[in-house]
Amino acid sequence: RADRYDALRGKPAVTHDGVAIRLLGNIELAPEAAHCADRGAEGVGLYRTEFLYLNKSSDPTEAEHYDAYRAVIDEIGANRPVVIRTLDLGADKFSSVSGLLSVEKNPFLGLRSVRLCLRKVDLFRTQLRAILRAAAHGDIRIMFPMISTLGELRQCKTLLNEVKEDLDEAGVPYKADIPVGTMIEVPSAAILADVLAREVDFFSVGTNDLIQYTLAADRNNEHVAHLYDPADPAVLRLIRTVVEAAGKAGIDVNVCGEMSGEPLYTPLLIGLGLRSLSATPRKIPEIKRVIRQLSVAEAETVAGQALSMDTARQVQNLLRDQLRRIL
Ligand code: PEP
Ligand code: MG
Repeated sequence: RADRYDALRGKPAVTHDGVAIRLLGNIELAPEAAHCADRGAEGVGLYRTEFLYLNKSSDPTEAEHYDAYRAVIDEIGANRPVVIRTLDLGADKFSSVSGLLSVEKNPFLGLRSVRLCLRKVDLFRTQLRAILRAAAHGDIRIMFPMISTLGELRQCKTLLNEVKEDLDEAGVPYKADIPVGTMIEVPSAAILADVLAREVDFFSVGTNDLIQYTLAADRNNEHVAHLYDPADPAVLRLIRTVVEAAGKAGIDVNVCGEMSGEPLYTPLLIGLGLRSLSATPRKIPEIKRVIRQLSVAEAETVAGQALSMDTARQVQNLLRDQLRRIL
């Protein structure tokens, strides 16, 4: 029950041995930013802006984007981080909107997300303008989803710079030094994390897609749900690769998939080196409770053991034992 966690709201997310963990909330609509603050999140770690398309028959205008982003800042406060993820349309998300997509045989491997934005450049520019303008009023950061190559990331950054020049020329106020990050949710991006890390200010690991693409198991298909496992050693190795690359490059790394909202995985993620987690606001108090009972040394032991295991089942058993021990 939520009220059981009320006492935790004002307490810091600090491990038993004094290491601070940043807890952020995932939102789909601007008013949900209030839930983040309410559940004790420090900010918004993932704003899934494609929900601006929900129940709409036409593309959102720049003003609609801008108003939504300003509303998030108003809800959560100008000094708290808000990571705005650019449109992740396609695949299972509103693929029928305003004739954006033709029918694809493999939509999850198709013109999804940033691939679509780079094809529909006007749609992308509209959103980038709104984000840059709103960023003048709060701690907004921009994040690109589904990046699978360095070239794609560079294309996004080039477009962002072009939009900045347009705003400069028009004398429109915006934040020029907005932090730029990329999601790591495609195995190629995880494997090349050291290369991508040189080009961005932060990473956010999208485990929902990273798991589905690593194991080639559709995240929404019950027939292959037994393969879709956050504890799979292949997934753990990729997360470790990403955290190490971020550490070497000196950039922030966060996890924003459902995995970061599951207490079972909290010790593992902390042990793998994560110090920032973004989850559904409802889950924040539970995660904070686990963090406060856990020491980093314990977490590192668990992660080390997990990484030496061969199957997801072994890792799951280890994590269940560990959670029982600390709660
Ligand atoms: C993810 O893939 O883990 C993620 C956070 O993005 P989404 O669930 O919106 O695809
Ligand atoms: Mg994703």
